[in-house]
Amino acid sequence: MSARIIDGKAIAAELRAKIAGEVARLQAAHQLVPGIAVVQVGDNPASSVYVRNKAKAVAEAGMRAFDHTFPENVSEAELLTLIGKLNGDAQVNGILVQLPLPPQIDAQKVIASIEPDKDVDGFHPLNTGRHASGLPGLVPCTPLGCVMLAKTVLPSLSGLEAVVIGRSNIVGKPLVQLLLAEDATVTVAHSKTRDLPSVCRRADLLITAIGRPEMVRGDWIKPGATVIDVGINRVPGEGRESRPAGGAGKYKIVGDVAFAEAEKIAGALTPVPGGVGPMTIACLLLNTLRAACAQNGLEAPQIGG
Ligand code: NAD
Repeated sequence: MSARIIDGKAIAAELRAKIAGEVARLQAAHQLVPGIAVVQVGDNPASSVYVRNKAKAVAEAGMRAFDHTFPENVSEAELLTLIGKLNGDAQVNGILVQLPLPPQIDAQKVIASIEPDKDVDGFHPLNTGRHASGLPGLVPCTPLGCVMLAKTVLPSLSGLEAVVIGRSNIVGKPLVQLLLAEDATVTVAHSKTRDLPSVCRRADLLITAIGRPEMVRGDWIKPGATVIDVGINRVPGEGRESRPAGGAGKYKIVGDVAFAEAEKIAGALTPVPGGVGPMTIACLLLNTLRAACAQNGLEAPQIGG
């Protein structure tokens, strides 16, 4: 058996096209152009690539981008002052602070200073609480993208055994809430889980958010299972990029799942790159569109499930 490859790039492109259509409609009907402010501190190369990709996607969707870049030594007070201004700016519907932040800045304090209705990353404690209570609110982009990808191959997640590896606030934990909302039976595995391969073998839907290159082997996967690989890991090898952060030499990007092994046993599988990554950016645009509608008393368009 050879797994069906879930083409995140194509699925994300389709979603972005629908979002662009809605943005054009909003502008024509309400003279409203959704805007997102992206705040970056320092020049971490991985963050810069991500921020550039975001800026391109925002422009293609017809939205406005407001970019704010600070040097690595910026003070927490300066950052909080900017966020205060963005919170009060009606042209800014979404605020995203690129993580990680340098050590002199308390990232939790910065996240908590964002107006919750503009928190398009969905990391504000109020949105986390709303989400956990089943109330409407902005949901983190990567987990949202994972569930959308799973639903392209699984008509319903109801009653399925879903195993999530990873319990971070950014991916693992919000995924649990989304999967519960879809009526899946959810297990969260992490670095202290005993006999991880057996836990994984129970999964009809396996989602890996670990950050360990190709850790999940083919024989950990239940035959026919759907596997969503969130991991982004740099390993030495012939890749498309040739300037890794902090060193010379070529590298390539791999996921948390040993793709060549998994492909032979899974029913469906996301590639890395080209799986979850493109969906994260598309979901950021979706959250910005939803935030802009909510802030202007308009009903959110029925796209993205
Ligand atoms: P994190 O480091 O905060 O969390 C990793 C989790 O993996 C932890 O909960 C830890 O308990 C678990 N873990 C670590 N080693 C383990 C082991 N040996 N066995 C079982 N569990 C183990 O990372 P994160 O921010 O959640 O990101 C996870 C991965 O997803 C990273 O590779 C990251 O780059 C990637 N990521 C991708 C996207 C995307 O858009 N595709 C977005 C966010 C994160």
